[in-house]
Amino acid sequence: IKYVYTWGAGKADGNGSQKALLGGKGANLAEMTLIQLPVPPGFTISTEVCTYFYANKRTYPECLQAQMDAGVKNMEKIMGAKFGGTTGMPLLVAVRSGARDSMPGMMDTVLNLGLNDQTVEALTKATNNERFAWDCYRRFIQMYGDVVLGVQKREGEDHEPFEVVIETFKHEVYHKDIVDSDLTADDQKELVKRFKALVKERTGKGFPNDVWDQLRGAAGAVFGSWMNDRAIVYRRKYNIPSEWGTAVNVQAMVYGNTGDDSGSGVAFTRNPANGVNEFYGEFLINAQGEDVVAGVRTPDPVVKLNNVMPKAYKELLKVRSTLEKHFKDVQDVEFTIQKGQLFMLQTRNGKRTAAAALKFSMDMVKEKLIDQETAILRNPADQLEQLLAPDFDLAEIKKAKALAVGLPAGPGAASGIIYLNADRAAAAAEKGETVLLVRNETSPEDLRGMIAAAGILTAKGGVSSHAALVARQMGKVCICGASAVLIDYDKKTVTISGQVFKEGKDYLSIDGTAGTIYGGQVKTGPSQIVLGMLKGDKVAAKTEKVQQFKTLMDWCSKATRLAVRTNADNPEQTEQAIAFGAQGIGLTRTEHMFFEGDRIDAVREMILAEDEQGRRAALAKILPYQREDFIGIFKALKGLPATIRLLDPPLHEFVPHDDKAQAELATKLGLTKEKVASRVNALHEFNPMLGHRGCRLGIAYPEITETQARAIFEAAAEVQKKGIKVKPEVMIPLVGFKKELDLQVAVVHRVAAEVQKEKKIKLSYQVGTMIEVPRGALTADEIAETAEFFSFGTNDLTQTALGISRDDMGNFLMPYTENEIFKKNPFATLDATGVGQLVKIAIEKGRATRPDIKLGICGEHGGDPDSVKFFHNVGLAYVSCSPYRVPVARLAAAQAAI
Ligand code: PEP
Ligand code: MG
Repeated sequence: IKYVYTWGAGKADGNGSQKALLGGKGANLAEMTLIQLPVPPGFTISTEVCTYFYANKRTYPECLQAQMDAGVKNMEKIMGAKFGGTTGMPLLVAVRSGARDSMPGMMDTVLNLGLNDQTVEALTKATNNERFAWDCYRRFIQMYGDVVLGVQKREGEDHEPFEVVIETFKHEVYHKDIVDSDLTADDQKELVKRFKALVKERTGKGFPNDVWDQLRGAAGAVFGSWMNDRAIVYRRKYNIPSEWGTAVNVQAMVYGNTGDDSGSGVAFTRNPANGVNEFYGEFLINAQGEDVVAGVRTPDPVVKLNNVMPKAYKELLKVRSTLEKHFKDVQDVEFTIQKGQLFMLQTRNGKRTAAAALKFSMDMVKEKLIDQETAILRNPADQLEQLLAPDFDLAEIKKAKALAVGLPAGPGAASGIIYLNADRAAAAAEKGETVLLVRNETSPEDLRGMIAAAGILTAKGGVSSHAALVARQMGKVCICGASAVLIDYDKKTVTISGQVFKEGKDYLSIDGTAGTIYGGQVKTGPSQIVLGMLKGDKVAAKTEKVQQFKTLMDWCSKATRLAVRTNADNPEQTEQAIAFGAQGIGLTRTEHMFFEGDRIDAVREMILAEDEQGRRAALAKILPYQREDFIGIFKALKGLPATIRLLDPPLHEFVPHDDKAQAELATKLGLTKEKVASRVNALHEFNPMLGHRGCRLGIAYPEITETQARAIFEAAAEVQKKGIKVKPEVMIPLVGFKKELDLQVAVVHRVAAEVQKEKKIKLSYQVGTMIEVPRGALTADEIAETAEFFSFGTNDLTQTALGISRDDMGNFLMPYTENEIFKKNPFATLDATGVGQLVKIAIEKGRATRPDIKLGICGEHGGDPDSVKFFHNVGLAYVSCSPYRVPVARLAAAQAAI
C-alpha cells in the first residue's frame, strides 16, 4: 500500500483533490507544486497511517519506513542536501500536521528537524552563519522538547519551562529584556546547552541525536496530537469526525531567519474580515513562520514588503493572482523568503467572516471566476446570522469614550465585563454574565474561554494571530494587537490610557470592525442589513452590503425548491419575516397572544371557570382580542398563507403559582383565594408535556376550539372584504389518533360555515394537523383522510421520539455531547437517523392517502442548515422558522437544491 506521497521540483504523487487522503495541507502542497509554484519539496504520510496508528496500539505499518526513506531521498536530491549530513548543507525538515479541514493551531508542528551536535556544525559551515545555525538548533530543541518530549508547563507553573530558561539567561547576561534576534551565536550555544539539561532533568533521557529517531518521534507526536484535548474540543465545536485522522507533512526547511534579506509571512489574497479585494496579511523580517502566527512580535502589513524586498514582493503578488485563478477562491497562504527568494509553504481556502464571504462571492461572480450557484455555496449558511448581528447603537457610541485602537480582526460590536483568563471567563459566562476576554495573546488552550466570550481583545499579535483566526471563524467580535492595553495578570487589571479596569467588575466595549476600544458598557443595535431590509433605512438600503445580500437572496430563490415560511405571532414579526423573504406563516402559536395587555385576565377566567357556561362567558371576552390579532396578521401577510395553530400548552402555564398573585387574581375574579389555589392545584401535572395539552384541550373543551375558529374566520371575512386575499390554514396540534382530528375538524368546519353564512362571504381555508407525536407519524395514512396538510412539529416529535424532555435536557447535554451520543444537539439539528425516519414514514403514508397533501415543518429545526437539507431531500414543500433565521433557511434551502 502507498502511504507516502512526495512532491517537489514541479512533480507530485498526489493533487489538490485528495484532501481526505493527504489532508488539506498535503493535497494543496502537491497542487501548488503541480502548477509550478515555488514550493520546497517534501512528502505527506497519509491519513490512512493515522487510522492504522490508532487501530494498532499506536504502531505503524511495516512498509512505512522504506517509503519514508524514499521520500527523504527525493528531498535530498532536489535540495542537494543530506538528512543528517555532516559535510555540505544538511537537509533540515519541518514536520506538520494536516487534517482534511484545517484546524488552526490545534495540533503540533516541529521545525528545523535534523539538527544535532554534528549537523549544526555543517549548517554553520555551509551558511557561513554561526548565529543562524545555532538559533535554528535552539528553536528545534525547544519545539521538539515541548511537542514531542512533553517538556511543558506543569501544574502551578506560570510560564513555559523553555521560556523561563531564556528569560533567566537574558537577565543573567544582559540584565534586561532583549528580543530573541539580538541573541549572539554564543548565547544560542549556551541556551542549547541549558535546554538539553532541561530536557534531561524533565524526561530523564538525553535529547535524541539520531535524525531518524527525531523524525519518527515527530511524526508520532503529530499523529498523537490528533487526540489531544484542544483538538478534541475544536472538533466537537466544528463537528469534525474523529475518524478522519490527520496526515503528517514532512517538508524541506527554507529559512526566513538567515538575516535581514529573509523573512516569513502569512497573507490572504483578499481581506477576510470585510471582503475587500486587497492583499491582506503581514510579515516579519528575519523570522520563521511560527513567530508570525504566535503573535509574540507584532508584524508589519504585507504591502510594506514592497519597501524592503521589492523583487520578492512582486513575485508574491504574481503568486496571489495565480492562486486565485487556479483555486477560484480566496486563499490563505504562508510564505518564506530566504535570501530574497520566495517559497510557498501552504495555501488553503481562507477562513472568512460572513460579511467577507458575501462580498467575495458576489465580486467573484462579477470577475467571472465563479458562477451564481458556486456563489451561493460560498456563503456558509450557519454563519449568515452574523450579518444580522447587532452593532453599537449609533447614538450611544457617539457618547462613549474611545480609549485606544487595535487591529480590527473580527467584525461586529461587543460589550462585556472583562476577564483576563479563559477559565474564569467561561465560568462567568456560565453564570449568565456577558464577558469580554482580554489577554496579551491567546493560545489554543484559551479556546473554551473564547467560545464563551462575547468578544476578544488582545494586546499583542496581528490579524492572523491565533486569536484573530479563531475569532473570525466563530463569528466573534475581536480586536488584536492593541498595544495600549496594559494587562496585569496578577492584579487582574487592565490599564488603557491611564484608566484602570477591574476583572469581573468593569466593562469594556470593542468595535471589531473599526478596531476601537471603548471604556464602559455601550448598547448594541441592529446591523446594516437589518436596518436596510427591515427598518426601511434608505441610506443603509443603498450600501453595497445590503445590495449584495439582496442579490444573494434573489439567486437563492431561483435555485431553490423548498419554500421558507416563518413562525410569527404578531404583525410586526410577520412583516420582518416577509422583508427577509418569507413566503407566509408556517406557525402562529395563538397562545403567545394571550399574555399581551390585560387579556391574560380573560384567559385565566376561562381556565378557572367551573363549567361550560362560565368558560363561554370568558371566551366571549377573548374572542375580540384574537380576532384583532388575526386581522393584523392577515393584513401583514397581504395574501400569503397563514398556518394558525389552536391552543397548545397545558393550562397551568397560564395561571399564577405564587400566593400573592393568586390572591390578586381571586380579587379580580370575585373568587376566594382558596378556590383559585385549589383550581391551580388541580391543574398540576407530573408530566405536563405529556399531559392535558394540544388537541386534548379542544377535545375536553370544544368551546375553546369553537371560539378560536370563530376569531380566525371572522378576521378572515373582515380582511377579505377589504379586498385583501386571506388563506387561513387551521392547524390542530398534537394529534395521535385520527378520531382526535375528526372531532376538532368538525368543530372548525361548523364554525366556518356559520361565519360564512353570517357574513355572506365565501372563504377559502384548509384544516390540517401537526405531526408531532410518534403515533401520529405512524398512522399518517389514517390521519391524512381528514388532514389537508401536515406540519411536522419536530420539537415535540424529537421530545416524544427520544423520550427526552425538551425543557430538561440541559443537565445532561454536556456528557451526551462529550461522549458523542449526540453528534449534535437533536433539538437544534434534526436526528435524521431516528426522528427522521418518523418524518419519512409520515410523508410516505400521508401521500399514499392524499397524494397532493401539503407538507411542511415548523419546529426549531426549520432554521437549521443541516436539517433544512434533510427536509429538502425528503421532499417537504416548505420549512418555517423565526424571522431572523429566514435568510439562513433560504440560503440552506438553495444550497440543498444545488
Ligand atoms: C413543535 O413541537 O415542533 C412545534 C412547532 O410546536 P411547539 O414548539 O409550540 O410545541
Ligand atoms: Mg409542539
